[in-house]
Amino acid sequence: MNQEQRHDWSIDEIEGLFQLPFLELLFQAQQLHRARFPRNAVQRAQLLSIKTGHCSEDCAYCPQSARYDTGLPPEKLMAVDDVVAAARAAKASGASRYCLGAAWRSPKDSDVDAVCAMIRGVKDLGMEACVTLGMLTDTQAAKLKDAGLDYYNHNIDTSPEYYPEIITTRTFQDRLDTLSAVRKAEINVCCGGIVGMGETRVDRVRMLQVLCQLEPHPESVPINSLVKVQGTPLSLRQIDDKDGQSSDAVDGIELVRTIAVARIVLPHTVVRLSAGRESMSDELQALCFVAGANSMFWGDKLLTTKNNGVSRDEALFHKLGLVPWHPEQEAASASTSTAAAAAAPRA
Ligand code: SF4
Repeated sequence: MNQEQRHDWSIDEIEGLFQLPFLELLFQAQQLHRARFPRNAVQRAQLLSIKTGHCSEDCAYCPQSARYDTGLPPEKLMAVDDVVAAARAAKASGASRYCLGAAWRSPKDSDVDAVCAMIRGVKDLGMEACVTLGMLTDTQAAKLKDAGLDYYNHNIDTSPEYYPEIITTRTFQDRLDTLSAVRKAEINVCCGGIVGMGETRVDRVRMLQVLCQLEPHPESVPINSLVKVQGTPLSLRQIDDKDGQSSDAVDGIELVRTIAVARIVLPHTVVRLSAGRESMSDELQALCFVAGANSMFWGDKLLTTKNNGVSRDEALFHKLGLVPWHPEQEAASASTSTAAAAAAPRA
């Protein structure tokens, strides 16, 4: 079992993993998972849209783009107190990670100041904090770090080759530049993609290859299954992949394979089973956890789309014998021990 971070995975090697017999692939992924992460434990994250709609970008899957008529009412940036109150309620309902999303191409500096106050409020609750605000400058990333931000989310979405079919208002390189600013500020990188947008398996392979090429690997990789929202180009377009196959959603087994391959090529990364769970059976979600997913969104809403409610997910945890995973507590106790070791008298 190779647990080291490799940045030189070839397309053929990653494709070879996808082609393994399904049970072999899951076995390899689960072995690596157990070597690194607590067994049967899944982190619960809650996501809040702190500024909704009217986005200038044209991401073809997104109901928040001002270019598409999705009937979504826009909302201004939320007040800090309201965000902290929502985080407190999320913690009370069982979430330990709180993610804030704003529909911006890039934030203004004054927006970043407001988000920093929100981050401080979330951190004071003892939760892990993640935000996604669009493209960032180095200075903005440094401010977020100072506020205590744990993770910045900025997805590459798909392969560099398929990307222009999905977004034209910013380039793949723009995405990588923001990820560099995040890394430079020493914030953990949360970066993944979406399956089921009409891409081929080769695109999924290339997406994972690009993630592996980041040094170090992203600490967090969300794998989303497309949620088709009425009015977005991907809901209006018949989704045919480049091999001429058409489908309403990515095949469940292919989704599980994608998660398992992510677990193998990114062995230290938290792999998050993100959007799209509402339409997944318990059995499919269970396979995603066997494949190495160890985080999920909690609560009845993602940014603007539906998620499984808490009671359905509590039942799923019970049925599968899962327990909540609290990496934020592990991080806090690691930093306490480091501080204690530094303060200990030396002979
Ligand atoms: S995904 Fe983000 S950047 Fe793209 S349109 Fe939606 S809110 Fe804007």
